[in-house]
Amino acid sequence: MSEKRCYYEVLGVERRAEASEIRKAYKKLALKYHPDRNAGSAEAEAQFKEVTEAFQILNDDDKRQRYDQFGHAGFGGAGDGGGGEDIFSHVQDLFADFFGGMGGGRQARGPQRGRDVRVRQALTLEEAVLGCKKEVQLRTPVECTACKGNGAEPGTEPQACRTCGGNGQVSTGRGFIVFTQTCPSCQGQGRVVTTPCKRCDGAGWEEKARSVTVSFPPGIDDGHRLRVSGQGLAGTSGGPPGHLYVDVVLHTHERFTRDGNDLVLRQKVSFADAALGKTITVELLDGTTREVSIDAGTQPGDVITLGGAGVPDVNGRGRGSLHVVAELVVPTKLSKRARQLLQELEVDLAAHALTSDPADEAR
Ligand SMILES: [Zn+2]
Ligand SMILES: [Zn+2]
Repeated sequence: MSEKRCYYEVLGVERRAEASEIRKAYKKLALKYHPDRNAGSAEAEAQFKEVTEAFQILNDDDKRQRYDQFGHAGFGGAGDGGGGEDIFSHVQDLFADFFGGMGGGRQARGPQRGRDVRVRQALTLEEAVLGCKKEVQLRTPVECTACKGNGAEPGTEPQACRTCGGNGQVSTGRGFIVFTQTCPSCQGQGRVVTTPCKRCDGAGWEEKARSVTVSFPPGIDDGHRLRVSGQGLAGTSGGPPGHLYVDVVLHTHERFTRDGNDLVLRQKVSFADAALGKTITVELLDGTTREVSIDAGTQPGDVITLGGAGVPDVNGRGRGSLHVVAELVVPTKLSKRARQLLQELEVDLAAHALTSDPADEAR
C-alpha cells in the first residue's frame, strides 16, 4: 500500500482552510469521484474513499486538531474515521440533493423556481389615475450575514448529530446498499446547532429590506394585482426566481370618489347659483380645469356629467366620465339684511306660487 497522502493535499485546501472551504472542496471532489458517476471504476472508488476519509477527519474539529498535531500517526496509521464501510452512508446527507435516490432516503430535486412574494402598495387617487412609478418596499428572507446560513453563532460550528453520527440518516443496513430513514434528532441535517447565532436566533436567515421600482399604469384600481416577474425569492439549484405580486390599495380622496372608471365630485352650489344658473370651474386630478354649467333651477342632488373627464381605462379602452353632483349649501349665519331679504324673497316666492297658472310652468 502506498503511503497516505496529506489530507489537506487530498482535498486541495490550505492547512488554515475554514470548515466551509473544506466542505466545499470535498463536495466538489466527492461528486467527481462518486461511484454513481464512475460505474465500475476501481480507481474512482479509491479516490472517493480517500477524499471522504480526509473530509471525515478535517471536518471534525477534534480529529482535525489531532491530525494537525500528529499527522496520520494520530489515528493509529489507518485513520479511524475513514476507509470503513460507513463511508457511503456518511456522505448521504451531503449529497442528497445530487444523488436523491441513494440509500432510498430522499427524492432528487431539480431546479426549483423561487417562491413568489406578495406586497400591498397604497396609491393616492392621483397616482392611480395618472399612473406612476414607485419604489415598492419589501422584506425578503436572505442568508444570515453573521452565520452564513448555518445558524451557529460565529466562532462556533454546528456539531455533528449524536443520534446519526452526523450523516443525517439512521441506517438499518450496512455496506454500500443501506436502508435508511431521515434522522429524527436533526431532521436529516446531520448537524445540531448548540450555540444559536444571535443575529438570526439560529434560523440561518434574516429579513432584508429591498425596494423594487414598479410602474403602475394609468387607471389602475383598488384590488388590482400587478405581477413583476423575476422579483420574488431566488430559485434553488439554478431555478429561476419567483415573481413579485403587488396588490393595489387606493387611498380615499378628499374631493373625488372613484366608481370604476368614473369619478364623482360633490360640488357645493349656493341657493342663488342653483336658482339663477352659473358656470363654475372645476379642477381635475391632473391639474387641468373644466367648465361645469349649473343650469338655472338645478335641484339638490342633480348630476351634471362630463364625458371623458374620468379615469383612463387601465386596458386602454377609453376614459370614464366625471359626474358632478350638486350639493346645495344652506347658509347657517345670516346678517340682519340677509335675513330680511330672504323673508321678502319667501313672501314673493309664495305669492308667485299662488298666482301662477300651473299651465304656465308646464310650458
Ligand atoms: Zn445567523
Ligand atoms: Zn441526526
